[in-house]
Amino acid sequence: MPDQKHNLVWNNCLQIIQDIIPPSSFKTWFDPIKAVKFYNSVLTIEVPSHFFREYLEEHFIDLIGKTLRRVIGQEAKLEYNVRVVSNEETVTLPQQNSQELTNRSVPFPNQNGNFANPFVIPGLQQRQIDPQLNPNYNFNNFIEGECNRLARAAGLNIAMNPGKNTFNPLFLYGGSGLGKTHLAQAIGIDIKEKYPEKIVLYVSANRFQTQFMDAANVKNKLTDFLHFYQMIDVLIIDDVHEFAGKPGTQNAFFHIFSHLHNIGKQLILTSDKAPSEMIDLEQRLLSRFKWGLVAELIPPDFETRVSILKAKSYNDGITLPEDVINYLANSITTNVREIEGTLISLLAQSTLTHRKITLELAETLTEKFVSKNKIEISVGKIQKIVCDYFKISSESFLSQSRKREFVQARQIAMYLSRNLTNNSLASIGAQIGGRDHATVLHAYNTVKDLIDTNRSFRKYVSDIEKQLKS
Ligand code: ADP
Ligand code: MG
Repeated sequence: MPDQKHNLVWNNCLQIIQDIIPPSSFKTWFDPIKAVKFYNSVLTIEVPSHFFREYLEEHFIDLIGKTLRRVIGQEAKLEYNVRVVSNEETVTLPQQNSQELTNRSVPFPNQNGNFANPFVIPGLQQRQIDPQLNPNYNFNNFIEGECNRLARAAGLNIAMNPGKNTFNPLFLYGGSGLGKTHLAQAIGIDIKEKYPEKIVLYVSANRFQTQFMDAANVKNKLTDFLHFYQMIDVLIIDDVHEFAGKPGTQNAFFHIFSHLHNIGKQLILTSDKAPSEMIDLEQRLLSRFKWGLVAELIPPDFETRVSILKAKSYNDGITLPEDVINYLANSITTNVREIEGTLISLLAQSTLTHRKITLELAETLTEKFVSKNKIEISVGKIQKIVCDYFKISSESFLSQSRKREFVQARQIAMYLSRNLTNNSLASIGAQIGGRDHATVLHAYNTVKDLIDTNRSFRKYVSDIEKQLKS
């Protein structure tokens, strides 16, 4: 009999609540609740997540309190069971009783310092969180180009109105050295300047993962971990592709993400892949990544490379000769980190050997430091070699013609581009005659199958690959 008592009590409450709040809220916030126990005027309900409990407390606690007293009497009390379930661990978060329910302050990490949070500066009157931002990564020195125009504009827009814009989350993706970290940090810095009171936090996905693992098996620590992240106004997580294959971390992040997004806080995420290309990541996370703006950073074009070289050398107090700039911009095409690296070696060489920076010095250096081991394979280079190999013109290659030999050449180029470059499927498609990402994926799978089943085909691909790498 006692089994049914809690259901009876809770159903009576639900009938009252249902008449008061809109059906959609009722469905979202009351349907998922299960009554689990009723004893000594204490009703225990189970809610699906920690975030859910907080939401209930923030929005419905008066209503629930009044209703309970009406159904049970003045002595009524409420207890929660919050269950956070993940593949790595199951944690029942601490219960709370009805006296505590009236206290609606945002739960902060333990003030007694049990949780040594690495981001909290100790000894300050009011707790402050070190945003972990690098002042060298700001908007002033982030050069605008076609390659980053959309992402940069979105970033500036977010900084004006963090959380209250259509770019939430902002998901930045692209190959390495293309400015994801720089841009994400620049947004954080701009927000801190405009809104010093906002709590901004930059954290790498790896660090987040380590913190989570440290906290995961200790009950109070996990609560503190979740609370800590849930009070952030602007959360920047770098390299979220690192969450792949880590279901527990993904689950914790999911709850934090949902909570922050729901209350209008800003999320900025970076990744080396587009959401549609990420594997081993939960669907519910991937779909949320696409709620705001997904923006790709691509390798800079010639003009932008020139601007970057000029800006960076200017910052170092030198003016590079035009021919040196042109030479460098022509020979280093892969990413901005590479451009920076070469420039630094050039400056070092010229200072150490007391030589002027000339085209000759630049040539020797790039040969030494870039060409031999570093020049990466680009989609353009793959296209050229494939066209030469099959003796077809690049117009035919890029055309819409469905002639078999053209289709095959394009498919091989797409396959190799996916294997040998950092470009996303979408960007490969865009560079090979404006095809979409599904076409590239299809080409990739076709070529993969043919390599396994067709010997002459296998030879084409390996010949071309050899030429590319030589
Ligand atoms: P990612 O995170 O995409 O791997 P980073 O943000 O670390 O790349 O960028 C690599 C280097 O290139 C950094 O030193 C950064 O300052 C510089 N950089 C990237 N993009 C730009 C840009 N548009 N303007 C100026 N510097 C840039
Ligand atoms: Mg980075």
